[in-house]
Amino acid sequence: MANKKLIPSIGKKFGKWTVISESRIYLGGNTKWMCECDCGNKSSVAMNNLMNGNSTQCQRCSAKERGLKKRKGLGKISGEMWNQITRSKSVDITIQEAWDIFVSQNSKCAVSGREIEIYGYPYDKEKTTAILCRKNIDDYYWLHKDVSNLKPFAIAHDDWIRLIIEVANYQINEEK
Ligand SMILES: [Zn+2]
Repeated sequence: MANKKLIPSIGKKFGKWTVISESRIYLGGNTKWMCECDCGNKSSVAMNNLMNGNSTQCQRCSAKERGLKKRKGLGKISGEMWNQITRSKSVDITIQEAWDIFVSQNSKCAVSGREIEIYGYPYDKEKTTAILCRKNIDDYYWLHKDVSNLKPFAIAHDDWIRLIIEVANYQINEEK
């Protein structure tokens, strides 16, 4: 049963749309109404899309809404930063888990103890020194940017640390 109150008329609101023109446009059997979005954009909208709630705002506003949802961040990690991280490497943890790990490390590199910082709002990749790295197969930690460059993706944490100690010991002995 169609709700009679929903039938478009001038001034009636459907979401952000306000019907502004009675002049109907018949296109492919669809009755369209001129509407104005709250943002000022005007567009003709099919009556059935207005009435069943398929169209509640202009394309620009719905694109903005989608963008805002996608950009939801957590802690210092902005959605924009998280998007970039997960685009550049396969990450199996959530933004929540990544942030929890950062907090548990007290803003320090897990391997070197160096201070690490995140500039998430807006995301500044140059200034951000914290890099999320794979520790083991299903384990992650945050390393200082310079340290992360030394951590091969395929090498497990313990093997890598052994390697670093070997290098350090060899260098110390060479210096003597
Ligand atoms: Zn709009």
